Amino acid sequence: MKVNVSQDVLSSFRRRALRRYPKEYMETIWGQVKGGEAYIYAFHPIKHKSDNESIEYEPAEIEEQRDEEAPLEKMMLLGTIHTHPDSSIEPSQSDWETARVDGDMLIGICQIVMIKGRKSSRVRFYSEPIDELVKGKNGVTDNRNPARN
Ligand SMILES: [Zn+2]
Repeated sequence: MKVNVSQDVLSSFRRRALRRYPKEYMETIWGQVKGGEAYIYAFHPIKHKSDNESIEYEPAEIEEQRDEEAPLEKMMLLGTIHTHPDSSIEPSQSDWETARVDGDMLIGICQIVMIKGRKSSRVRFYSEPIDELVKGKNGVTDNRNPARN
């Protein structure tokens, strides 16, 4: 899936994320899917605890956001974005698994690395995590619930 996001929206996320470095940081992704492409309109902060290699959050927090934000802004929850401080830009196995369990359409990874004393960040989005998971694991069938689309 092609992912469209404005530089403004993306750079304000990066600023918030860089401030947390070297801790991980996570936000929810809000937008729409039109014509087979994802349009990201906003990232919303979510309460979570983190260190430099893990994030803990209450799924109920995300559900609350869904109830509060979705009807007002005509946006849907597309997934979450989180940072990988000094780590890969690829989602980890547990990132894929979490996305699958949560029914997320997108995984956003913001890689943050220190280069010559300066923090540098790259963001990449991954879609259809379930399909990726199927490829990565032998014998797992696509059990996506069609009602969730
Ligand atoms: Zn991760």
